[in-house]
This record gives sequence, structure tokens and C-alpha cells, in this order.
Amino acid sequence: MVKELARELKEKFSSMGAPDVPLKEIEQKLDLLVNQYKVPEDEARRTVYNQYARDLKLQRPQAGGDAELVKIKDIAKDGMWISLNAKVMQLWESDKSSIAQVGLLGDETGIIKFVVFAKSELPLLAEGKSYHFSKLVTDSWQGRFSVKLNKATVITPIDDIDTGGAETTMTGAIVDVQSGSGLIKRCPECNRPLNKGMCVDHGKQDGEYDLRVKAVLDDGRTAQDIILNQEMTYKVTGIDVKIAKKMAMDAVDPAVVLDEIKRILLGKYFTVRGRVAGGRYLLVNEMDRTAKDITLDEVLKKVEAI
Ligand SMILES: [Zn+2]
Repeated sequence: MVKELARELKEKFSSMGAPDVPLKEIEQKLDLLVNQYKVPEDEARRTVYNQYARDLKLQRPQAGGDAELVKIKDIAKDGMWISLNAKVMQLWESDKSSIAQVGLLGDETGIIKFVVFAKSELPLLAEGKSYHFSKLVTDSWQGRFSVKLNKATVITPIDDIDTGGAETTMTGAIVDVQSGSGLIKRCPECNRPLNKGMCVDHGKQDGEYDLRVKAVLDDGRTAQDIILNQEMTYKVTGIDVKIAKKMAMDAVDPAVVLDEIKRILLGKYFTVRGRVAGGRYLLVNEMDRTAKDITLDEVLKKVEAI
């Protein structure tokens, strides 16, 4: 499989005006990513492609003409000029002065990160509003696609887009497991977590046990708040409500559950998939370990060194 991918990349580089890239070298980079560090194949392919594209300064996309109107799920290539009808799902904080706005766009098929550079001098986008975006450029980073708005981009407000089923995928390391994670009790009336046995609306309650994780996944460029429900928490930690209750009882302290979840998740590398909700959280419904005990930065350094 790696050999095939390598040949495909070699052909691609040739067609882009770089026929001299050694096949063996491409193969070694792919082999390291795919076989040693268990990076998914399409991500490995993009990583290696991006490296050569950058180092060899391969073709830059050209503006001009009308960009094709696509759906978010169909974005599968870097450096393409496209148009989108999409809703601004989240605006993130950015401390870089070169970036005017950054966040997530969604349509009925998916969710994608967007970046607006300050020098593009575009009108500001509003969270929750839908727009037609003409002439965006696609990009990718660690297997995750994004779109960049630039000077050529034209933004037109449109009617609201239903993004109900749209999901996004992200790969990164768990850099924080937040308080409020672990064994919690929920109000039986409104399902909100109780604080010291109290619901803000319904007063003192016995409550029902639940298990969840609120964490931060960092892909090297952005930090995303994620939430794992009881089922996902069990899938990635092996802890269910019954086990958690026993742990808490044995230790006479419910905080041991949170400590154990931290021990299992912190610093580990996952690919998560889920729906964006509440303007901030990604509700995870699939989560898989991708590489073991090594950060992607470290993997990339090894690949670069070949
Ligand atoms: Zn309540």
C-alpha cells in the first residue's frame, strides 16, 4: 500500500514539474508515518505531499474564472479554488494579528475550519449567519482540511443553512481534561449537572449518576473543546458508571475517577469525529487512538529528516 501511495505521489510531483523526487525517499517517509506511527494513510499522503509542495515550491493555485460550488464533505484536495454556501458555526479567538477571523464553517454535509487573513480586508463574518463564499482556497494541516478567504473572495449573505447533521473530524493530542469530568450527578428534572447536590433551577436533588469527559484536543494550530458522553468515555477509558462508582467508593473520593481519566488521556493522540454544538463544543461520537506516545510534531521531524 505504501509503495502504491509513493508511486502515486511521484507521478503527481512529475506532473507538477518536479520529476526528480526519489521514489525511495517518498516511500521511506510514508513508511515511517503509516507503518511505524500508525498515521492514517490519507493523512500520511497529505503530510508528505505538503512537505514536498512546500520545499519544491510546486504550483500555486491561480485566481480567475468562477470557482466551482462544492459541498464541504467533497473537499479532498489542497490548493483548489472553490465556492461554498455555508454557515459560520464558531468564531474562535485568535491572538495573531495577521488573522482577522478564524473558526468553523458548516453546511448540510460537514464542517470545515476557515481562516480570514487581516490583509484580505474582507467584511467581518457573524457567528450563526449563512453566506455564499465565492473563491476560497482549500488547504490542509495534519489531515484536516480548511479553507482560506483571501482578497479575491466575495462574501454574500444568504438564507439560513441547516447544518443539523454536519460532522467534523480532527486529529490531535489531549492537552487538558477539565474539572466537571468524571463521575457526576445530573438533575432528574432537567438533566443538568448538579453542583454539590444542587440544581440551579430545581434546588437540592439526589440526582442520577453519569460519566463524561470535557477535554481539549490540540492539533498544533487550534485547541478544540470536546465532550465525551458516558458511552464514549467507556470506549476510550474502559471506565463505566459502575466501575467509576466503585472507584469513588473505595477511595472515599469521587476525584479519583477524574485522576484516572487524566492519566489515561492526557498527552495521547486521537482522531475524533463529532458534531459541533453550542458554539464551542464538539460532541464526540467516534474516537480512535492514532499514534502511540509521540506527538505529531515529533513524527513530522523524523519524516523531515529522511
Ligand atoms: Zn434541574
